[in-house]
Amino acid sequence: MASKDEHLALSSGIGLAGIAVSNFEDCSYEAFWVFKEEIIGCIVKPTRMTAIHYYLYFYQDIEDELHKLCDAFDAEWIYNFIIRTLDELNIHPELGEPDFENCSSAYGHNDCECNKAIEKWKGFIIDNQEEINKLIIHAAFQFIFQNRKFLFDFHLELARFIEEHMGEIERKYPDYISQKKRVKRQYFPEWLKLAVFYRDKGTCSQCRCDLSHLIRVQNTKHIDHIIPLNMFGSNDASNFQLLCESCNTSKGAKIISTSSVNAPFWNL
Ligand SMILES: [Zn+2]
Ligand SMILES: [Zn+2]
Repeated sequence: MASKDEHLALSSGIGLAGIAVSNFEDCSYEAFWVFKEEIIGCIVKPTRMTAIHYYLYFYQDIEDELHKLCDAFDAEWIYNFIIRTLDELNIHPELGEPDFENCSSAYGHNDCECNKAIEKWKGFIIDNQEEINKLIIHAAFQFIFQNRKFLFDFHLELARFIEEHMGEIERKYPDYISQKKRVKRQYFPEWLKLAVFYRDKGTCSQCRCDLSHLIRVQNTKHIDHIIPLNMFGSNDASNFQLLCESCNTSKGAKIISTSSVNAPFWNL
């Protein structure tokens, strides 16, 4: 079954994804620490909330962002930011609009009717911050999940964290850890198989051969761990790619690779 259509806050999401990718080298370790419990819960078997989502939580805080913007921008800018953000999230509260045109205040909007109106909008954001943060993270994930190169770097770093915390992971999830102290292979849920297949456009992530069965029916598709389990890779839902049989066999369990090869909307 394909996923349901949703409103995705792609503009907010692309901003968050950019911040998360560009700060990865400096902040990943701290982020893994802050969300250690949640991340350990993601890696033993595929879940819809992934380690990437928690990594994004490290940066996403709409209340904090709003406070910083309020220090830097004027009231009209803030109001437009709030409106744009909520509209994109498809959230439409019934709050009064500030009437900037007929404002009585001579200097900014500090003590006027529009200020009161904006305070209500800010209050709405703060009261609903949990939901707003979640929706922006969901949107940012849509971009990050397409970036196999970043997923590779992310899971390589996460593998080091897993190796370091293997004792703790095993105590918490003994059934999911092998004798060799690695995360055990798990069954792939249907939603994950579909996501990986569509993300990789029905082609092998290495050699780009067709795996849709529309061109060659003989090619079998494999869901591959980008960072293998024996190298402390995990079953986090963002650690998978589509491979053909021959690339999967030749990759072996010790060589790790992905590639940024992709099918653009058009070529330049
Ligand atoms: Zn005013
Ligand atoms: Zn291949």
